[in-house]
Amino acid sequence: MENGSKKWGFQANKSLSTASAVTVRGVLNVLLDNLNKEDTRQLIPLAHGDPSAFPCFRTTTVADEAVVDAVRSAKYNHYAPTVGLLPARRSVADYLNRDLPYKLSPDDVFLTLGCTQAIEITITVLARPGANILLPRPGFPYYEARAAHSHLEARHFDLIPEKGWEVDLDAVEALADENTVAMVVINPGNPCGSVYSYQHLQKIAETARKLGIMVIADEVYGHLTFGNSPFVPMGVFGSIVPVLTLGSISKRWIVPGWRIGWLVASDPNGILQESGVVESIKGCLNISSDPVTFIQAAIPQIFEKTKEDFFSKTINIMREAADICYEKTKEIPCVTCPHKPDGSMFAMVKLNLSLLEDISDDMDFCLKLAREESVTILPGVAVGLKNWLRITFSIEPQSLEQGLDRMKAFCQRHSRK
Ligand SMILES: *Cc1c(COP(=O)(O)O)cnc(C)c1O
Repeated sequence: MENGSKKWGFQANKSLSTASAVTVRGVLNVLLDNLNKEDTRQLIPLAHGDPSAFPCFRTTTVADEAVVDAVRSAKYNHYAPTVGLLPARRSVADYLNRDLPYKLSPDDVFLTLGCTQAIEITITVLARPGANILLPRPGFPYYEARAAHSHLEARHFDLIPEKGWEVDLDAVEALADENTVAMVVINPGNPCGSVYSYQHLQKIAETARKLGIMVIADEVYGHLTFGNSPFVPMGVFGSIVPVLTLGSISKRWIVPGWRIGWLVASDPNGILQESGVVESIKGCLNISSDPVTFIQAAIPQIFEKTKEDFFSKTINIMREAADICYEKTKEIPCVTCPHKPDGSMFAMVKLNLSLLEDISDDMDFCLKLAREESVTILPGVAVGLKNWLRITFSIEPQSLEQGLDRMKAFCQRHSRK
């Protein structure tokens, strides 16, 4: 412990382990450590949402070429400006403007290291002493982790499974007080696969306006919809309530490793500007790392040249996969899926523990499933809903079928006799 004469002056920051106690990555690592190394079957990963490893989800060559062109030009070996390269910001504004009743300008757009950093910046900017934020349950645990790290109190409203996982707006009203700064809406939804209607989003906007809070719209799965509801961006309601729109190319273009996303003030009334939030965002970006310059430079070409058939191919595979997931889980005795996913890459299914022998909870289920069947599924606790499971269906459909067959065999083996 000691260096001879005096004590070492450093210590670990313990609050970091508390803030990151529950993360998807953390739980995933526990499951992977629990695999049976003697099982020669291929691992079927239904726990995390990164389909980039599967050949059927390979990104478009248009995107590859855009990056190669940017690198080869040797024009982007420099540091990027704080808020991002102007042509890339303009491109993101144009991309989002296709679906908006008003026009964003490049000045409303900030480029970030994936949607992850957009969340980090948003939470950091909003965290003032005593403030609180309303988060969905189930949700995306990175919000909880960042809020804890920034000492921003998190309060949870439920998403209602019987109503297609819509926001319980009465709960939102009951939770909010004069110190509430924002509510988070993830649409299309992770972990529920929900896609909200125009009407529901409008009601959310009206509720937030009434409460005097902004809406943080996590649209990282924007346009990844395959059910009956089309994707409607929250920014459409930006004149009702100020919206911070968060997104990235990670999911729609299936390149999460490229680390580029955006944080956008969808706020035609300029309330975020007036209140200083926009200035704080810039300040926060000034002390953060930037997305790689040549990836920023590739954005205009990626957005302009990606063909519709790349998107529709992805969507068709995901629709097929969501169908397989929904139909196959119906055959599994101990789980029920209350709502067929309409978008994103996930379905939530409820565990009926009373039908199972020797399984104590969702984590126990997932650990034993990993060990006995080499299938990883995310336990609901990781997304705030104990004794549920989050199944990722965005994998090669054939592997998905195999994975669900193994899960079925597992459940039959552990059924109460
Ligand atoms: C994947 C994901 C993110 C992070 O996106 P990146 O662009 O990979 O940083 C943010 N929010 C939700 C809901 C996600 O599922």
